[in-house]
Amino acid sequence: MKRQSLLFTCLFIISATMHALTLKEDTKICGVCGQPVHVTVVQRLLSGGAMDLDLRPAPEKRDTLKYQIQLCRKCNYCWPDIGKERKREKIAEVLDKPLASDNLAALFARAAEIEIADNAPSFASFMLYMKAAWVMDDLKNKKKSDEYRKLAIKQMELYMERDAIARTTGDNYLAYIDALRRIGEFSKAKKVAEVAALYAKESILPKILDFQIKLIENKDTGRYTVADVLKTAK
Ligand SMILES: [Zn+2]
Repeated sequence: MKRQSLLFTCLFIISATMHALTLKEDTKICGVCGQPVHVTVVQRLLSGGAMDLDLRPAPEKRDTLKYQIQLCRKCNYCWPDIGKERKREKIAEVLDKPLASDNLAALFARAAEIEIADNAPSFASFMLYMKAAWVMDDLKNKKKSDEYRKLAIKQMELYMERDAIARTTGDNYLAYIDALRRIGEFSKAKKVAEVAALYAKESILPKILDFQIKLIENKDTGRYTVADVLKTAK
């Protein structure tokens, strides 16, 4: 809970101060079938620039999205860490579906489906669909990024429905509101913003919420960063 409640603040401070990217080649053992899998991992990444209001990192860090998902080509399991163990029978339906391994967004979406099948809607399944949306944002494919945002929104709704901490965490509301606004769901975003006012009370969160409310009133579906909030809030 603490990690999430500080998400916006911490990421902003880090992103404003340092630059570095170090990659490392590694071999991991697939957590489903036991096959060795060659992976490239980000060993160190501290990049410049403010993130977007849906937690999408600034460009330099965003370029590493391709290293944030790992794939076992033997059993088609994919996950941010391929070593994470899962029982095949629980996720067999997902693994048996045809795989577009050259489609990064589809890999993130597949990982989200694996999490849902094995566990439940969670912050992880929300973020995996958001990452799929960011890949499509970068490819300027609005239709596909909207589709993935809708799937992410559904995950956040189910996650909040089943988890009391999730529905009292300010960051969750802010990421949720931004996803709704970006796909033009203004009336729903407005209703969520009213509830969010009860929980988005720490640090920069109230400023982000005020900023979002203005964007919703203006029916603005644009992309904005935390730096935009700070400029306006002065
Ligand atoms: Zn495998």
